[in-house]
Amino acid sequence: MVGKTARDTLAAARRLADAATGAVERAIEAVAKLTDGGKAIDDQQVRAERIAQRATEARAARELVAYGERRASAGRPDELAQAQALAYAAEVAHALRGEAEADPAAFPPDPALDEAELRDLVRAGLAEAHVRSIGERVLAARGAHGTELDDPVATLTRDSARDFAKTEVVPIAQEMHRQDHLVPEALIQKMAGLGLFGSSVPESHGGTEMGYLTMVVLTEELAAASLVAGSLITRSEILTRALVQGGTEEQRQLWLPRIASGELIVGICVTEPDVGSDVASVQCRATRGDLDGREGWLIDGAKAWSTFAGRANILALLARTDAGAGVRGLSLFIVEKDPFDGHHFQQSQPGGGSITGTANPTPGYRGMHSFTLAFDRYFVPAENLVGGGEGLNRGFYLQMGGFAAGRLQTGGRATGVGQASLEKACAYALDRRQFDRPIAEYQLTQHKIGRMATHVAAGRHLTYAAAREMAEDESASGGMAPAMCKLFASDVAVWVSQEAQLIHGGWGYSEEDPVARYVVDALVLPIFEGVKPILELKIIARQLLAGGA
Ligand SMILES: Cc1cc2nc3c(=O)[nH]c(=O)nc-3n(C[C@H](O)[C@H](O)[C@H](O)COP(=O)(O)OP(=O)(O)OC[C@H]3O[C@@H](n4cnc5c(N)ncnc54)[C@H](O)[C@@H]3O)c2cc1C
Repeated sequence: MVGKTARDTLAAARRLADAATGAVERAIEAVAKLTDGGKAIDDQQVRAERIAQRATEARAARELVAYGERRASAGRPDELAQAQALAYAAEVAHALRGEAEADPAAFPPDPALDEAELRDLVRAGLAEAHVRSIGERVLAARGAHGTELDDPVATLTRDSARDFAKTEVVPIAQEMHRQDHLVPEALIQKMAGLGLFGSSVPESHGGTEMGYLTMVVLTEELAAASLVAGSLITRSEILTRALVQGGTEEQRQLWLPRIASGELIVGICVTEPDVGSDVASVQCRATRGDLDGREGWLIDGAKAWSTFAGRANILALLARTDAGAGVRGLSLFIVEKDPFDGHHFQQSQPGGGSITGTANPTPGYRGMHSFTLAFDRYFVPAENLVGGGEGLNRGFYLQMGGFAAGRLQTGGRATGVGQASLEKACAYALDRRQFDRPIAEYQLTQHKIGRMATHVAAGRHLTYAAAREMAEDESASGGMAPAMCKLFASDVAVWVSQEAQLIHGGWGYSEEDPVARYVVDALVLPIFEGVKPILELKIIARQLLAGGA
């Protein structure tokens, strides 16, 4: 605690977060000069990556502080949130002073960060007793959090999603993972019955259009029980966004109600065996053709890592329709297929077209299976080109619009995995005794839990802030806010799940313990929907440097 009152703690956290933000702005300006406003970013990749990291952390600190301030000004101060805001803002400010020490050309020393008073605040926030006191409080609550949402619908949804996850998901999650089973049809149908697949579909098209914040908290609760359950609606979400933004009205009327009801399960096909982050190089081709006199397109080529592609009834597939036009030669198709539940499938059409799929074995994120797919003259009717004639060669932009919503949702998924890991670690630490005491009573455990909970809270508030920003204006930040929350919360989930595993000692390494599942599940979060270095360089740093030139 800084000074005597909680108000002092919050004021200290605000000063640190503002100073960190100022230092990040100076760094952006410096690296923008070195890269000609980001145009030469590839000559400064390492610095650009650090800019993206530090800017994201500074924003997370501001959001944590802002939450503490909102609670205080509403007359319901949250002392734990205030203590976490101070601890986290101090971490960020401290890291920035380190950057200035190591690389002053990119991170010019900031006089504000060097003021004696500010350095005292950093020490207070990082003080081991301060972080431990956070840990003690979190342990007393067994890791549970009481974050207020200031949104009655989101609050209600979170409560019912938590109950649903406890009764319907938790009992099956571990076996589904261990046996690598496909998620049970009964769970899909129950989620469909609650309207969850239509969470982004407008009410006019049969959905529940619950809004971004509600979608995020729903996802967080489901993902805390099982990453797979929290991921079931992601693909529907991505295609829904693409249809809402760029589909024709006929397409919206045809597809959206069936996606919303869960009648159609969606797979996404962007990645290829030789094409990952460089989506402009997509090779899978769509050429004009027909089947039984019906006009359309023939799909040829391979796709990789298409999650749930076996069970899916429709695939949102990005294919090349113009050989020489980079991103401007790609179109988005809705490919209809039958659902399959094994690790292999083959679908044939009367005209000889086929799709063959084989699931890639993975250590985690099981339950949906991610497939390598081979398309051979597979026919897609003309009306399944998203956007109709206008959509020709606009597929990249439609797909990327969908990915922004997917990344926001992944902020929620990652927060759920982080929260589950934290709660599991607290429960274990309180029960496990070594050297005659519960391990929760040891200083090191309390300190670890304090930091883990603080980082989970920072990721949560960054994600909620991105949801609010996108609700106000979908394109406000050019996709930077959802990229930042996905980047940050995914790293938190990886780190916190590994810390939680360590707190479990050898028992955390047992396949029987859910914490071992959290660890392998979390590892995928920084990979899909834009692998971490690509989000840092091509989305976050690029925009920051263009604005800071
Ligand atoms: C379990 C799982 C499920 C998935 N589900 C889907 C799905 O449903 N649909 C789908 O389409 N895809 C899916 N993906 C694919 C995922 O989106 C890709 O793996 C991801 O986009 C990265 O592509 P890549 O794996 O080819 O990596 P690459 O693009 O080859 O990148 C690998 C590494 O190379 C380096 N690198 C690449 N480019 C640069 C650069 N310009 N500058 C600096 N370094 C660079 C980075 O270190 C990067 O991490 C899934 C992946 C997994 C693992």
